Amino acid sequence: MSPYRLRGKTVLSFSGGRTSAYMLRQVLDHNDDLSALLVLFANTGKEHPATLEFVRECAERWAVPITWLEYRDDEQGFAVVDFDTCSRDGEPFEAVIRKRKYLPNPVTRFCTVELKIRTMHRYLKSIGWTNDEGEWDQMVGIRADEQRRVSKIRKRGTSTETPKEHMLMPLADAGVSVHQLGAFWAAQPFDLMLSTVNGRTLEGNCDLCFLKPLNQVYSIIASDRSRGDWWARQERSTESTGQFAGDGARFRKDRPSYQQMMDYAEIQFDLFAEADEAIDCFCGD
Ligand code: SF4
Repeated sequence: MSPYRLRGKTVLSFSGGRTSAYMLRQVLDHNDDLSALLVLFANTGKEHPATLEFVRECAERWAVPITWLEYRDDEQGFAVVDFDTCSRDGEPFEAVIRKRKYLPNPVTRFCTVELKIRTMHRYLKSIGWTNDEGEWDQMVGIRADEQRRVSKIRKRGTSTETPKEHMLMPLADAGVSVHQLGAFWAAQPFDLMLSTVNGRTLEGNCDLCFLKPLNQVYSIIASDRSRGDWWARQERSTESTGQFAGDGARFRKDRPSYQQMMDYAEIQFDLFAEADEAIDCFCGD
């Protein structure tokens, strides 16, 4: 059976990147009946505007409903939004930082957990996808060449949120690599308008995500210093609470602060030329 065939109720986690969009296209092409499919996009508020355009365009061109969700610090814990009403200045992300009173970091990645994983699950629960209502699949856009992520999820088998949700990686099962994706998008009449290097979309997911390599983050700041404003503000305001001066007041204690990177960019020193690797997380491509 094709890995893209739906086995029953399925939530497809759409990150707004080329990989998960390709997965969505394959699922649409391999199923006649899509009534069991739910496509969710969780917006952190720090997505690049091109990502938001791309999500909207996929839904419109492919005539598939995509539900846009955002974290909220209220009883419900989420809001359903759309292209016009979604946050564009990190509001959901900031709300979760204010609630936790410290910043996420490479070890404690509560941003991806709260803004994406739990926001999606709170929504699923609200529409009756609960442990008492049987089991379902979640499709995530992880390619065959992302071996570390593939083996981690295979080993676990089910979601971190509920054992009733079975994790599927149809792209990995179909042996899809970054090269096939490149060929697919080159042949499409539209694309995500963000550049890639070795298959990675530099400005995908949150624009200056602390899991991205330092030289990548710095080069984005160097091209437009104002892009660092939001991130520097979070570090400053967390520091100013006094409670978490130290690790919790920086996204990365092993790097300069975002304000320092903005200051370096001002005097145009290319201090971060050496390459390091991005760290994987649920946010995906
Ligand atoms: S992209 Fe990075 S900063 Fe944004 S939610 Fe994911 S891990 Fe957190």
